[in-house]
Amino acid sequence: MHKDIATPGRTKEILERYGFSFKKSLGQNFLIDTNILRKIVNAADISCDTGAIEIGPGIGALTEQLARRAKKVVAFEIDSRLLPILADTLSPYDNVRIIHQDVLKADLHAVIAEELADVSDRMVVANLPYYVTTPIIMKLLTERLPIRGMVVMLQKEVADRLAAKPGTKDYGSLTIAVQYYTEAEVVMTVPRTVFMPQPNVDSAVIRLVKRPRPPVVVDDEGVFFQVVRASFAQRRKTLLNNLTNNLLGGKENKEQIERALAALGIDPRRRGETLDIAEFASLSNALAPLFRK
Ligand code: SAM
Repeated sequence: MHKDIATPGRTKEILERYGFSFKKSLGQNFLIDTNILRKIVNAADISCDTGAIEIGPGIGALTEQLARRAKKVVAFEIDSRLLPILADTLSPYDNVRIIHQDVLKADLHAVIAEELADVSDRMVVANLPYYVTTPIIMKLLTERLPIRGMVVMLQKEVADRLAAKPGTKDYGSLTIAVQYYTEAEVVMTVPRTVFMPQPNVDSAVIRLVKRPRPPVVVDDEGVFFQVVRASFAQRRKTLLNNLTNNLLGGKENKEQIERALAALGIDPRRRGETLDIAEFASLSNALAPLFRK
């Protein structure tokens, strides 16, 4: 077994050897605790049949742990300065493929078809760059990828949003999207001391496992998510105001929206953030004929 990358000493030595300086703008906080890494890999239930997809391998701390357990690891890294470092630190592993690309611009279906066609199980595992946590999660959720789910490290504040209850400040469109597509669970909270450099927020590891089918029946997912986003657009406004102001064509259809709310017994003066996922589903099903594109 090779020496772990994720110790303070080895990480410092690698960074010094390459004269690497962290870019805050890329969310570069590297893990320097092998125990945490093992817990992440355990939570993801990685076996020798698993293809792991990593976002942001950094100097390879998590990649290495995944490579030891998975059949193959495909990792997207945006920072070209890390490529020669990764080629060096991951040289003992012949089952790792690094792709130099912004994950938000990547064609994940194509990469999976090309790199992970021969595995029976696929899981995303990552210590996410915090400046793009939400767009990355939304991309992974909405693209209907052939994956089992994801285990990701993110800001604790975002983890709180995933499990939030209606009517709380953390409850929002991310909560609904995560609930719609997955079963979510917080695996652990993580102190800032396990990162180099230390971030100025606390972190958490969450596990999202894709549901075989959504928990509510939605006639048109496009309209469902438009209605959800519009309802949360201005949190101080009423539901009716948000729907008329923020749905494309909402103003012209104000009367029909009022009628739909009345038929469902949803008070138009409520705030969008008080609706649960079942109410959003019935509201969007009632509005689908008006707003379907
Ligand atoms: N996995 C490493 C670890 O745990 O030590 C590094 C994690 S660090 C929090 C996030 C990594 O994501 C950095 O290596 C950063 O360069 C990379 N990154 C940032 N934005 C990215 C993007 N849009 N696409 C791919 N990688 C990105």
